[in-house]
Amino acid sequence: MMPRRCGLCGKSDYRHVQGIGNPKAKIIFVGEAPGAQEDRLGRPFVGPAGQFLNRQLAAIGINRKDVWITNVVKHRSIGPPDEQSIARSLPVLIKELKTIRPKIVVLLGNTAIKAVLGKEYSVVKCHGKIIVKNKIRFMPTPHPSAARQYKKMKQLFLADFKRLATLSRAPV
Ligand code: URA
Repeated sequence: MMPRRCGLCGKSDYRHVQGIGNPKAKIIFVGEAPGAQEDRLGRPFVGPAGQFLNRQLAAIGINRKDVWITNVVKHRSIGPPDEQSIARSLPVLIKELKTIRPKIVVLLGNTAIKAVLGKEYSVVKCHGKIIVKNKIRFMPTPHPSAARQYKKMKQLFLADFKRLATLSRAPV
């Protein structure tokens, strides 16, 4: 069972939006924090960024139901979440990674990349690469919101997703 509460529960004005998907997933996607629609519906990546993500998953032959989709911070944040919110939220993400033990964890955007790998990592420096930390394989890529808005970010995102498709089909 995934935790239904985190260190921001009772401290945030917004609801806790749990990760969702297949608990035996081979791929986990980690975003930043729920947006307005996610807060309203109680599910991650259901707004415009989520619809973009769904389309790109379908394009590489991956069914959203087969993966696990979550966020670093489980409560809506107006603007990027601050350090304290991230620190209070990370234990739940770590629990998700340890419980599911996927083949690959895709970090969507700089908030997820920096929260999980460290401040020295960024989309520009390491998108599409496999970075191994604590025996878990991570792939940083642009956030779907950035990819749907900026041509350059979309190009990087699509190239990374192509690689992801190949990796997801390869034997472990
Ligand atoms: N952006 C995120 O980072 N996460 C969501 O769940 C929705 C939008």
